[in-house]
Amino acid sequence: MAELLFREDPYLRACEATVTAVHAGGVELDRTIFYPLGGGQAGDTGRIGDWRVANTVKGTSPDSVLHVVENLEGVKAGMKVPLELDWERRHRLMRFHTALHLLGAVVKAPVTGGRIAEDKAHLDFDVEMEKLAKDEIETRLNHLISSCYETRARWITDAELDARPELVKTMSVAPPRGEGRVRLVEIPGVDLQACGGTHVRNTGEIGRLAVTRIRSEGKRNKRVTLALA
Ligand SMILES: [Zn+2]
Repeated sequence: MAELLFREDPYLRACEATVTAVHAGGVELDRTIFYPLGGGQAGDTGRIGDWRVANTVKGTSPDSVLHVVENLEGVKAGMKVPLELDWERRHRLMRFHTALHLLGAVVKAPVTGGRIAEDKAHLDFDVEMEKLAKDEIETRLNHLISSCYETRARWITDAELDARPELVKTMSVAPPRGEGRVRLVEIPGVDLQACGGTHVRNTGEIGRLAVTRIRSEGKRNKRVTLALA
């Protein structure tokens, strides 16, 4: 189990950690700033000492994180190592993740899926195509961005979440259970949902967005794709 520093401070770009395990595909650390692929958000990249982290994924146990390193020569358990994120890339992922929460608030329909990459992000909605007007969505999104809402994260218990099922917005991305608590991300007055991802502090930090495409990906999947303008 690693201490997941990005949960309390997603702006931490560097820190020191100790290697706790070396596997064929990568290393585990006692603490990490690297977000592992999950909840639709891409895994982080960066450096651990001289080694290149090509991806980050969840390990086999809850809260364990595997830093994918191709050439592990010289890495040993017990080593103290400096960590450094590819910050520009991560910051784009944060901007997109918060943007998708805004998109979910603008489009009033059940979310069936979503994905955040460094150059684009999308949500899938269970809705008729006619209800998705590109220009209107883009205008309302950019209005929410330029209104500069603060974002904040807090924790509730599994039992509280069970009592408020509306907090699980994305049907295909259930929040992680079993820890006894679930993280909520709130954009006060705009959106509140269970989410383990990394977000910007203020919607103004997203910058101008463009709706680049609206396309049908199936009966219950109408995909709205965003790019940073
Ligand atoms: Zn989220």
